[in-house]
Amino acid sequence: MIIAKSKREIDKMRAAGKLVGQVLQELRGIVRPGISTLDVDRAAERMIRDGGALPTFKGYHGFPYSICASVNEQVVHGFPSDYQLQAGDIFSIDVGVTLEGFVGDTATTVPVGEVRTELLQLIRVTEECLARAIEQCRAGLHLGDIGWAVQEYAEGHGYSVVREYVGHGIGRKMHEDPQIPNYGKPGKGPKIRTGYVFAVEPMINLGTHETKVLADGWTVVTLDGRPSAHTEHTIAITEAGPEVLTLVPSGVNRQAEAVLCN
Ligand code: MG
Repeated sequence: MIIAKSKREIDKMRAAGKLVGQVLQELRGIVRPGISTLDVDRAAERMIRDGGALPTFKGYHGFPYSICASVNEQVVHGFPSDYQLQAGDIFSIDVGVTLEGFVGDTATTVPVGEVRTELLQLIRVTEECLARAIEQCRAGLHLGDIGWAVQEYAEGHGYSVVREYVGHGIGRKMHEDPQIPNYGKPGKGPKIRTGYVFAVEPMINLGTHETKVLADGWTVVTLDGRPSAHTEHTIAITEAGPEVLTLVPSGVNRQAEAVLCN
């Protein structure tokens, strides 16, 4: 069952979305060659708790960390580790917060140092896929319109779309109905209604769309070992159209640096 949110509930989700958006923005700012993905995880947890929220991922079905840290051929759900990011890597950070009972969920893929053009292009197209998907988050359209917007654009650039992992409704729980695939047919699937809140998250691969899960039981990698990019926003469907709750104005904020130095 898809749960429509009241205006008051969306106000709360706006606060959760703003916080997690700020956290992600600040994490993006600390990514550089030599930092470990565990350092990024620790900075995330501190910022989330300092913001009066809980790291939604931590303990979720036993997931042990506050962020998912997925490097290069890792698609999603990677474990933060001692691995030090290197120039040329692409690094997906996925983070969720629970603030006053409501969840915000967002992700981005960050180039580490100098990255080859092919990967910058993959990231850019993945971001454009999300922007196109957001345009479809309107009352009266259908879930298939969202998936099609992603698939058509990604495949048009010669990339492939991950099938096994999808976006989702979001609210008091991180994963609510409906599932929101990044593929589909225009005009098909459930109708989108005002008050729905969606986490839309294209996962776009340079090579095959096929994936497998590593022995840790979580980390999803591409089957062919080629790179993958991931980006996500939490979006409320309002009478006025899509409202991206996790979008924050860009600006340099040194809070994450401060957290790291403590
Ligand atoms: Mg999500």
